[in-house]
Amino acid sequence: MQDPEIAKRMEILAARMGRRDDYGTLLNAGQVVRRLDDVDDPDAWRAEIRSSARSDRIRIRTGKTGEIVWALLSDDNPARAEESERWQRTLRVAVPRAVEFRHEPVWGLRDGDEGILRCERCDAIGYVDGADGPDRPLVGGPLFEEDCPDPAPPVETVLTQFFGSGRRR
Ligand SMILES: [Zn+2]
Repeated sequence: MQDPEIAKRMEILAARMGRRDDYGTLLNAGQVVRRLDDVDDPDAWRAEIRSSARSDRIRIRTGKTGEIVWALLSDDNPARAEESERWQRTLRVAVPRAVEFRHEPVWGLRDGDEGILRCERCDAIGYVDGADGPDRPLVGGPLFEEDCPDPAPPVETVLTQFFGSGRRR
């Protein structure tokens, strides 16, 4: 049974992500790519993203290549590096938890210390919040509470390779 508190948090997170503009996507994903056809004025698009980044003191690169226009976060962003390091610690706790229930956890979405993971082979999703400490995150949802209905043994995913399956070898 789904915890209503967790369900509510997932809803709010998903709604917030749905409202994301291109700059928000850049912050969240580290990059944003749009087709030239989808952007009214590529130079104005780049200028607007650069201006947002400047006011947040975030270093980015933008460009136009063939049929696409893009923006990338620079590697040299200490505040973001720290946030990313916290998230990785969070995943080191959360990912093995999903594996205990035989899911194949894959990336869903992330915003700051909060994120949603899902199972590659069933419809289970799980909510993760590392705000109270990345080493003991709040986790909830079927991905962390209910067995995967797929009877076959789970295979490794990119996440389990990086963050551990929790299995003894
Ligand atoms: Zn599953």
